[in-house]
Amino acid sequence: MSQKSCIPVRLRLAKYLHPSGDQCWEWTGAKNEHGYGVIGRGKRGRGNTKDHRVAYETFYDVKLDSSSHVLHRCDNPGCVNPLHLWLGNHRENMNDMLSKGRGSKPPVRRGTANNKAKLDENKIRLIFQLRHTGLTTYQLAELFCVSRVAICCVLNRTTWRHVDVTNHFC
Ligand SMILES: [Zn+2]
Repeated sequence: MSQKSCIPVRLRLAKYLHPSGDQCWEWTGAKNEHGYGVIGRGKRGRGNTKDHRVAYETFYDVKLDSSSHVLHRCDNPGCVNPLHLWLGNHRENMNDMLSKGRGSKPPVRRGTANNKAKLDENKIRLIFQLRHTGLTTYQLAELFCVSRVAICCVLNRTTWRHVDVTNHFC
């Protein structure tokens, strides 16, 4: 029997993640007709799910119900940068679409010299999540625009020890 379908979706997801700092992370796996990346749910016959939903669930360690919509701050459906994703309900999704209007894209917040090298509690949790999905410390350093030493200090709990990350391992 093939083991392939048993690999957790979060681990398969990591293969298609290409962290690039505050830029959009373009999904390099399959995409649907709307430009959203898709990934199998893990079992045959269970269909596909949008990868940015899986990305959101993975990185923020939540289970989304069908009324929750993961939205893109960057208006790029193929983007799976967790920092570009936010959670809204259906109504917010519609409002978001309306407010974006016809092709007018909201400004995407890019990393600047000022906010580089800054971590916060959410990013600490994200670092542990991403490490858990198989990213290297080099990739994490690049993503969070900090040194690899800083990443290692976070991971071995030298710094940011007060942030509870225990429930991110299952
Ligand atoms: Zn993006």
